[in-house]
Amino acid sequence: MPVVWSDDHRLHDPGGEVWLGVRIPGTELPERAERIREALTADGAWFVEAEPQPDDAVASVHDAELTAYLAGAWDAWEAAGLPDDPGIDRVVPYLFPHPDLFSGIAPRAATSVTARAGQFAYDTMTLIGPGTWEGARAAVDSAVTAANLVLDGERAAYACTRPPGHHVTRTCFGGSCYLNNTATAAARLRAGGHATVAVVDVDAHHGNGTQAIFWDDPTVLTGSVHVDPAEGWFPHYLGFEDERGVDGSNRNAVMAPGSGDESWVAAVSELGAWAAEAGVEALVVALGVDAAEGDPESPLAVTPAGFREAGRALGRLGLPTVVVQEGGYDLDTLGGLVLEVLTGIEEGALERG
Ligand SMILES: [Zn+2]
Repeated sequence: MPVVWSDDHRLHDPGGEVWLGVRIPGTELPERAERIREALTADGAWFVEAEPQPDDAVASVHDAELTAYLAGAWDAWEAAGLPDDPGIDRVVPYLFPHPDLFSGIAPRAATSVTARAGQFAYDTMTLIGPGTWEGARAAVDSAVTAANLVLDGERAAYACTRPPGHHVTRTCFGGSCYLNNTATAAARLRAGGHATVAVVDVDAHHGNGTQAIFWDDPTVLTGSVHVDPAEGWFPHYLGFEDERGVDGSNRNAVMAPGSGDESWVAAVSELGAWAAEAGVEALVVALGVDAAEGDPESPLAVTPAGFREAGRALGRLGLPTVVVQEGGYDLDTLGGLVLEVLTGIEEGALERG
């Protein structure tokens, strides 16, 4: 299947993350996408350059206020002199407009650059630097280009997106994500004529942003299989199985820490079957490979064979399929794991014929 790529992902270097008040290296590195590219190149993949997409692609899933903020956040930070005093070379929030502050009053827009950072970010880990906006915007271009290839007749297409996106809602961002690439692909498939679309998110963490964006939209089903947030995993406050969306168009499947191939592949297959039974016309796979055994960001233990089998189960659905990269942080294995899933999807589609 075509692999959509943009060199512009390299413009975004989060420069680590602020975790519990400490600046740590972080794992969402530019090298992630390069490692995936290497593995797919070695396999003879067909690369397609991401095409610039109109701003409507972003506006289909995000409020204008969020995107305007992200587009200008670094320049405002730099213009305020904050890289020199107090000496922080990335945008980091310090104050969050918690809903309980307001007694129902609409919060005012903060005028200070430093305060404004907390209006849209919901954590301190998701830093904005000089090329963050350009990198995030290019990832949307990749996701929507892949959706367009599928609308033009490809059975499946893969967008090698970075930074990831599935933790971003319509109005706020976090979890190392800035724009919801997966959601833009789903919205494009809808706009391109598919009456109903499903997102199946196999990243090790709950796709909370995608769930929120389509919560009250019965034309986009959202399903996510992830490590149980009740066991202390991001996003902690969301991702439980009783979250069903308006009209029941959301499903969450939670996995106990240590879960491996058997339960994880079964959960992915069940989400696929749920979407197929609902009669969706197209599929978006939010492909994180951080459920892998050995990934530093999750306690799940899926093997390469498990990823291949999950890919087959999704391919057997026989749906036009856009695959969008989300997480996956073990640099030595993530490229191979992505290849396993993509190969599995092709094998499943062939089995179905
Ligand atoms: Zn993840």
